[in-house]
Amino acid sequence: MNSAEVLVIGGGSIGLHAAYYLLKSGRKVTLLEFKQAARGSSSGNAGHIVPSHIVPLAAPGIIPTAIKWMLDPKNSPFGMKFSLDPAYLRWLLRFALSCTEANVQTAIPVLTSLGLLSAENFTRLIAEEKFDCHYRDSGLLFLYKTESAFADGRHEAELLHQRGLPAEVLDSAAVHTREPAALPEVIGGVHFTGDSSLHPARYLELLLKRVKQMGALVYENSPVTGFETRDGRISKVFTPAVSFEPQQVVLAAGAWSPGVVIGLGLDIPVQPGRGYSLTMKATQVMPKQALLLGERRVAVTPLGDQLRFTGRLELSNHDTTPNPKHIAGIQRAVREYIQLDDELDILETWAGLRPTTPDGLPIIGISPKYDNLILATGHAMLGLSLGPGTGQLVAEIANRVQPAFDVHPLRPDRF
Ligand SMILES: Cc1cc2nc3c(=O)[nH]c(=O)nc-3n(C[C@H](O)[C@H](O)[C@H](O)COP(=O)(O)OP(=O)(O)OC[C@H]3O[C@@H](n4cnc5c(N)ncnc54)[C@H](O)[C@@H]3O)c2cc1C
Repeated sequence: MNSAEVLVIGGGSIGLHAAYYLLKSGRKVTLLEFKQAARGSSSGNAGHIVPSHIVPLAAPGIIPTAIKWMLDPKNSPFGMKFSLDPAYLRWLLRFALSCTEANVQTAIPVLTSLGLLSAENFTRLIAEEKFDCHYRDSGLLFLYKTESAFADGRHEAELLHQRGLPAEVLDSAAVHTREPAALPEVIGGVHFTGDSSLHPARYLELLLKRVKQMGALVYENSPVTGFETRDGRISKVFTPAVSFEPQQVVLAAGAWSPGVVIGLGLDIPVQPGRGYSLTMKATQVMPKQALLLGERRVAVTPLGDQLRFTGRLELSNHDTTPNPKHIAGIQRAVREYIQLDDELDILETWAGLRPTTPDGLPIIGISPKYDNLILATGHAMLGLSLGPGTGQLVAEIANRVQPAFDVHPLRPDRF
């Protein structure tokens, strides 16, 4: 039996950022990862850092939109499994009940604060640690082909302006000047100039290396298989090879979080939201910045000598096999917006699982049942973007320091 000061479960974006900020605050960290650290559900993601993303998924109008999308299964950016699993059905009901204006109004301030803290922390961390990870602060440009989607984009820009965040609305001429790869069918755009992008796998590998240098003990191929509890605390954590007596535990196992703590009687409403990516060699006309294709909800990211497309959200099981049908759909969608070579030199296809909560907010805080367990999960489509802010919050919570903003909407006992 080993002792551990802070034991982090999960070596993805959230676990590694938590480890980094805990170490910076002077704590000793042990990290347990089921498979390989720095991969998880982030390595093949779009790499977008998006403080502009302040509206939660659970918002009025999303259910009719999702139903409309699903009527065109070949091109739909959304899909869902059929299952009678009670946890899934409860999640769907909670999601439906969360699609209200009140939920949006609760979410906007906390997503704004966490997004801005994260963006600031990214800039500082990458500069201080001298990470070479294709970090580009050229913003995220949304492209639109239809008047109705462009109107939604202008509305979103207005919401950002109300909170003092930057967003530039571009007419057809301006959008083609800003993005020469855009096809004539693109009629307008919104440039979220406070956003940025990076190579997620490269960034996380550098972060893993750095936390090891800072003294973290990282155990890979070490799935947590069980716990022992005593007097409202986690007293032991088991893996097949080693066991630990931790002072504090951080649960950052993404879409697997509910399964990891299954015996502990906690309600963690997180479902896997599968998405896909394809990464190729640079095309002849590379986009000048990270893009989001408005109607199709597909992301495009230039990554040095590579280009990546990502898309689709499927409420799914935990399978991470890339589905060729959806990979082809993503590629078709990109061809509607930007110039692409006839043949793409595809290097990798990938699938990952977004840990998705019913109200569209992450779960960050001390467990209502075990006072030495901190939950940090449920970041859905923002687990990279909100990583450094979440890492800082986890360290503050572990050290009993008052966080810089009101984190009440993120509390684990809100469901
Ligand atoms: C197609 C796609 C595109 C995306 N694009 C973006 C984007 O541009 N920007 C953005 O911010 N986010 C994006 N996301 C979302 C982002 O990737 C996720 O939110 C993020 O990966 C979640 O991080 P996490 O650390 O919570 O979970 P993960 O990255 O999944 O890490 C959890 C880790 O826990 C480990 N684990 C599981 N079980 C155990 C166990 N029993 N014991 C120990 N360890 C365990 C897993 O192996 C895994 O490594 C995208 C996601 C997808 C699928």
